[in-house]
Amino acid sequence: MTEHFPDWLHAPWQQLARTWGQGRLPHALLLAGPAGIGKHLLARKLTSLLLCQQPDADSGACGRCPACTWLRAGSHPDLSELVPEEPGKAIRIDQVRALGVELGMTSHAGRYKVAVIAPADAMNVNAANSLLKTLEEPTASTLLILLTASPGRLPATVRSRCQQLRIPGPATGQALDWLQGQGIERALAERCLQIAGGAPLAAAQLAASDSLDLRDRWLDELVAVFDGRLDPVRVADDWAGAHEAGALQWWQSALQALIRWQQAGEAPGEARLVQMLRQITEKVDCRQLFELSDRITMAVISLGSGLNRQLLLEDLLIDWARLAGKPPARSTAAGR
Ligand SMILES: [Zn+2]
Repeated sequence: MTEHFPDWLHAPWQQLARTWGQGRLPHALLLAGPAGIGKHLLARKLTSLLLCQQPDADSGACGRCPACTWLRAGSHPDLSELVPEEPGKAIRIDQVRALGVELGMTSHAGRYKVAVIAPADAMNVNAANSLLKTLEEPTASTLLILLTASPGRLPATVRSRCQQLRIPGPATGQALDWLQGQGIERALAERCLQIAGGAPLAAAQLAASDSLDLRDRWLDELVAVFDGRLDPVRVADDWAGAHEAGALQWWQSALQALIRWQQAGEAPGEARLVQMLRQITEKVDCRQLFELSDRITMAVISLGSGLNRQLLLEDLLIDWARLAGKPPARSTAAGR
């Protein structure tokens, strides 16, 4: 992805740069806004401004000084990034304590010390309580930047000690223009933006990954199992491997789309999903979809627990085939 600072972040950026120029930057900032709209880019631009040796409030960091070079190389000693050790896991108290120690030391480069915590709502209760100490006794020339899509999930005590800045997402046209500016062709950009719920950076990631092809394959397979053209055991075999968590989560979201379609008449935004799922929504009732959706949720949770993944997927897919009211297909190749 080329470096192109998105239009919709210009207003919040200018506000931050102005505050910095006036010497009124707080010790802790909470950047709140939907996932995938560029909160990280904004935090990064502000960090560069604070660490750069020849900064400019209008254009930001110079991009040429040693500090800018270290930052680009990911090795600036005055920047700490606090993230869960594994995606989806909590940020723990020992990580926050280590950060507190780090921020208590003087800056290596004689300028700011910056810490970015993302997602801030991933801090567990103990970690958040530990952060309070750092927030209550800030050291000079330190900035904590907390990023979150769900500020309500942070303790009020943490929120009240941060200056909150809400980052608005872009309008659809603006997001599409930006995606095209990234070299993504219009039709693909539209599809990815729909899937990503209007979040352009998430859409750009989707366009660059192979997950669209995977989604298409999963959808084809689900419809074929439903129609009795494909053996559920074969599909379970295909999914049980590297992709099962992604496949189950995608299946879950497709079921949710079906439920919304049935209950609220709100067809999915993705044209291909509409085309493929139309016959299913006509044949299956909402209660059955809810039951299956609950079971998939349980399956996603139990994936890590050592259960036989293949059997778990087979059960779900055989039940899916039964929803069509016909016996599921059995391929002789599977030998069952
Ligand atoms: Zn610089």
